Amino acid sequence: MTTTPAIVCNQTAEKILQEGQAELTSPAETKTLRDPYGRVHDYIRISITDRCNLRCVYCMPEEGLPFFPTDKVLSGDEIIQMVENFARMGISKIRLTGGEPLLRRDILEIAQGIANVPGITDLSVTTNGLALSRLAKPLWEAGVKRLNISLDTFDAARYKTITRGGKLAKVLKGLEVASTLPFEQIKINTVVIRGQNEDELTAFLRYTFDHPVNVRFIEFMPIGTERKQWESQYYGIEGVFEICRQNGWDYAPIDYAGNGPSENYQIRGARGSFGLIHPVSCQFCEGCNRLRVTADGCLKSCLFWDDEDSIRESIGDFEAFSKKVHQVLAVKPKNHEMALARQEEVKDKKPTWRHMSQIGG
Ligand code: SAM
Ligand code: SF4
Repeated sequence: MTTTPAIVCNQTAEKILQEGQAELTSPAETKTLRDPYGRVHDYIRISITDRCNLRCVYCMPEEGLPFFPTDKVLSGDEIIQMVENFARMGISKIRLTGGEPLLRRDILEIAQGIANVPGITDLSVTTNGLALSRLAKPLWEAGVKRLNISLDTFDAARYKTITRGGKLAKVLKGLEVASTLPFEQIKINTVVIRGQNEDELTAFLRYTFDHPVNVRFIEFMPIGTERKQWESQYYGIEGVFEICRQNGWDYAPIDYAGNGPSENYQIRGARGSFGLIHPVSCQFCEGCNRLRVTADGCLKSCLFWDDEDSIRESIGDFEAFSKKVHQVLAVKPKNHEMALARQEEVKDKKPTWRHMSQIGG
């Protein structure tokens, strides 16, 4: 088994993208959605609510955010019809996120409706896990194939601090229940925050020894947070390899099916695996295959930038819908430049005004 000496970007921005070479596909021509850089888009992340029962320090302000009134949020029927439209355009993978998606009373109807859309082959959910002990089974029965559960610490007091009030035991229970079900994948999303949980990387790696999950270490992204907070709490996750070496753990890259930008590895003998998502220290835009829909029905081509357009009004009119989607895709930026991260260094574009809970991550 070979060990990897240092973090290796699987995305070197210039390698594949040949700027200007790829033609933007027009709605009538093909079922494949491509952006101006030739990237095929087959994946939509839908934030089905901006509401949440937690206030994670990297995601929401302590006092919360003014939530959209109910009539501003896409209804279940609109979401399903929107997915039908997307499926006609070549989208096959859907992730439901939020806010906290399991807070929606109609989450099971939405999941089942999407799972039944012809052409949708992969339905997944990202959740804080608080309601999973009750909902994991019905979600699986509704057609959800993969789960991402957010968990940044194994320490109850720390969990309470990071999430501003959450109960760790509830998430662990949810994780336990989900693990008894035949989900194709369970991933744990761990945002690494300097001064809060970087000392638990070892514990999370150890967790993969006995648990068939994929722990994904995620860098704190400068979205919706104060610059000062982000600068002081950002932690580059490449230290994970050093931890493996110090512990004498042999690890190797693995292929781990998924739609995300993570690079995946497995420690020899472990049942689970780990992944790195490092949008800040290492650009991951080269293979971007996704669009995002916000809870209020706006389509975003990039997580980071301000550009977005409402598609809600056109959901009932496929031609108009398709045109809107292509318009949004046509201005998709080549990359997010999160490392520059700041308005004053990027002259021609503005970072999004939205908080992560309003986009879905
Ligand atoms: N509430 C659900 C949850 O927490 O899993 C879904 C929505 S949440 C916005 C989706 C993912 O974004 C979570 O895994 C969360 O940890 C991550 N996230 C939120 N803010 C972030 C930030 N500033 N940087 C990196 N990841 C962030
Ligand atoms: Fe809520 Fe998820 Fe944001 Fe935490 S990360 S505040 S659980 S939306």
